[in-house]
Amino acid sequence: MEVIKISPRGYCYGVVDALQIVRKTAKDPQQPRPIYIIGQIVHNRHAIEELTALGVITLDGPDRASILEQVKEGTVIFTAHGVSPLVKQRARERGLNCIDATCPDVTVTHDLVRDLVAKGYYILYIGKKGHPEPEGVLGEVPGHISLIENEADVDALALTPQQQEKLAISTQTTLSQWDTRRVIAYIKEKYPHAEVHIDICAATQSRQEAVVAQAKGADLTIVVGDPRSNNTNRLVQVSEELAGVPAVRIEDLSQLKTEWLQGKKRVAVTAGASTPSQLTREVIRFLEQFSIPDGKSGEHPIPAASPAGQYTMKSEKAKSEGTEQG
Ligand code: SF4
Repeated sequence: MEVIKISPRGYCYGVVDALQIVRKTAKDPQQPRPIYIIGQIVHNRHAIEELTALGVITLDGPDRASILEQVKEGTVIFTAHGVSPLVKQRARERGLNCIDATCPDVTVTHDLVRDLVAKGYYILYIGKKGHPEPEGVLGEVPGHISLIENEADVDALALTPQQQEKLAISTQTTLSQWDTRRVIAYIKEKYPHAEVHIDICAATQSRQEAVVAQAKGADLTIVVGDPRSNNTNRLVQVSEELAGVPAVRIEDLSQLKTEWLQGKKRVAVTAGASTPSQLTREVIRFLEQFSIPDGKSGEHPIPAASPAGQYTMKSEKAKSEGTEQG
């Protein structure tokens, strides 16, 4: 079996920085205890487990404000997804030590929407309902912004004549660029004068474009990442819809079903921006073990049980974090 290691894939700089901020905080005895993360620092269970082992408590809940309600003392860390000014203010009012791990690319959007509203714009923000990133951005300019997930949301808008007059479009950082363009085109049909700001981050774009270019011709794409990671789920979608290659998402090697590999000659592998590199390397190494020395790839007898029970990895410590290449 040929394994196509899609590049770039995996950790982006925003995730690497956020994790380093948490590790540094955990090691600093001067930081008030307990140390809490308000929501999942990145959407990856394995990354969270590593931080839990350092004594950092991850709190979860329906939104950032209600998560914060659980904290009475100590340090709170805001995640890479960003947080609304109201949540920051409440944390300060409670006397909590606040550490902000917001990705700079998300901060750009926060600054942009504030600036646009100051100039008199009403904003249509394309993003995913229930995701923490839109929650933080909407919280910057409440009453001056609507969250749009799809065309139906555009149809349901009830904008006042004043709001319609000066409209701007902004976006979540981790969307599919093709879906986003489709929704923007729909908005522009109704509101041709709307000013467009596409804020999909470079890391998300490059990972999606790499799938389109490199997965083509593969029999299957395996996307390693957490089910809550938006950019991971978009990579599955991009493989299927843009590259025309069926795709599966797995959290780690233990979820890889060997029957998926039956008869496959070329399998592409990528990972979401919040997926620890080690998890992807384990999957790639497993797939490479499937390659047949005599070159008859894909005809190798498939083990009966899942790899988790059969395959022992050499102990491997993640050498470095950051975008994986090659
Ligand atoms: Fe930042 Fe983009 Fe990474 Fe999100 S996916 S943390 S916005 S670089």
